[in-house]
Amino acid sequence: MAQEDVFKKLVSHCKEYGFVFPSSEIYDGMGAVYDYAQNGVELKNNIKRYWWDSMVRLHQNIVGLDSAIFMHPTIWKASGHVDAFNDPLIDNRDSKKRYRADVLIEEQIAKYDDKIEKEVTKAKKKFGDAFDEAMFKSTNPQVVDYSAKREALHERFAVAMNATDLAELRQIILDEKIVCPISGTANWTEVRQFNLMFSTEMGSVSEGANKVYLRPETAQGIFVNFLNVQKTGRMKLPFGIAQIGKAFRNEIVARQFIFRMREFEQMEMQFFVQPGTELDWFAKWKETRMKWHRNLGFGDDNYRFHDHEKLAHYANAATDVEYKFPFGFKEVEGVHSRTDFDLSQHQKYCGKKIQYFDTERNESYVPYVIETSIGVDRMFLQVMSAAYCEEDLSKDGKKDSRVVLRFPAALAPVKMAVMPLVKKDGLPEKAQQIIDMVKFDYNCQYDEKDSIGKRYRRQDAIGTPFCVTVDYQTLEDNTVTIRHRDSMEQERISIDAIPALLKEKADIGTLLKNL
Ligand code: ATP
Repeated sequence: MAQEDVFKKLVSHCKEYGFVFPSSEIYDGMGAVYDYAQNGVELKNNIKRYWWDSMVRLHQNIVGLDSAIFMHPTIWKASGHVDAFNDPLIDNRDSKKRYRADVLIEEQIAKYDDKIEKEVTKAKKKFGDAFDEAMFKSTNPQVVDYSAKREALHERFAVAMNATDLAELRQIILDEKIVCPISGTANWTEVRQFNLMFSTEMGSVSEGANKVYLRPETAQGIFVNFLNVQKTGRMKLPFGIAQIGKAFRNEIVARQFIFRMREFEQMEMQFFVQPGTELDWFAKWKETRMKWHRNLGFGDDNYRFHDHEKLAHYANAATDVEYKFPFGFKEVEGVHSRTDFDLSQHQKYCGKKIQYFDTERNESYVPYVIETSIGVDRMFLQVMSAAYCEEDLSKDGKKDSRVVLRFPAALAPVKMAVMPLVKKDGLPEKAQQIIDMVKFDYNCQYDEKDSIGKRYRRQDAIGTPFCVTVDYQTLEDNTVTIRHRDSMEQERISIDAIPALLKEKADIGTLLKNL
């Protein structure tokens, strides 16, 4: 099945099985705003817990924070967001659709990459074991031509972006004959800058200024609390502050479901270090974060780093952790070495010293910062895409299939479904007793409707790792049938063994122990 079709199915599965709903749906929805439904919110909470515990519980020198969404407007001046948090936008006059000029050009670069890849795949098939990829790439005339065009475009694009040359961005779009996918025309407007911050009014903040912003990232809440946390927690460098919270960006092109939203959630950790040690810490956090992702068991090859060639003015190293979504490798998380930019800017704008006194070096300085920043929603989509699986179970000419979400058990919204074989003779009560035994630690579901087979399929579709069936034998010997989601194997176990089984297989601790 084409990857786009898989993605479409995934999106409708999210709605049909209570993971994600379009926001305000009865009023026809809102662009790029979504609500998490009964199963979605459980999965989301588990993802957040996996992140939070891996940061705050597993590191003695990382503490948490929950700062307000509204902050003093000068913060966004100091951080550079008021002046520079812009995307270049362009409209197509015929379709009236709006695009990000940089994204249109990046997609054009990706098209050259695809063409090169196609030639390589073709040649690989033709030449078999004797194929020398490097040699082929440097000598095949078609590939050499594509590579040269790609490089020239990439270079021209980087220069235009660095200089914020909007006219040049438009010219590139025209020269590359990039057309609007809707109208098919190149009838483009000028390129304009568009600030991504949402603003609103608040009763007088300071004289003459009552415009406040919805935060576009959670990081600044951490920076402005650096001194408070450091002093009250008596923190010594290196140390980190972690925060999970909502962020808002007025994205021009909101696409791909919850991949790019206008209201989303971030999990950010700012790690404060001695100047001069930041690149070592950057390397360490890069590795730590990749391990966290791969620990979910979705296949190491589905992740890669994308190191930034073009660095933001405040960064001296940056990389993205990318995952292979059905629509290609895309960023899930950023790891950035932000130097002392943010703390220094706040020091300048608030007029107060924001420094750390290093007792070993006997001097004060502004610490350097390594940031790890991951979107909860993007991580959610990553987990969903990796877990979604359509299986053909046809046997002996009888057609059968199932959709199963192969979540790591620790992230699954429902850990165990308990099902009485029939709705009478004390079986429902017994099933309820099993739930009562583990409900303080795990989210479990009681299900007595339809045949056992149908109930299994329903649980597969929401990724429940264990289904327990209570039957007449249960009343006699206190055993149940437990059915495993992935293998679909069934075994008879004692009810007393259930808590230990869940602890071993479905606890967040099982994930954390492997880190
Ligand atoms: P992109 O290039 O995709 O716009 P970014 O580089 O602007 O992302 P950062 O500012 O580094 O992203 O934000 C850190 C993380 O927050 C991203 O890796 C992503 O997971 C998440 N994120 C950013 N913008 C959005 C959004 N509009 N919707 C959902 N998640 C987002």
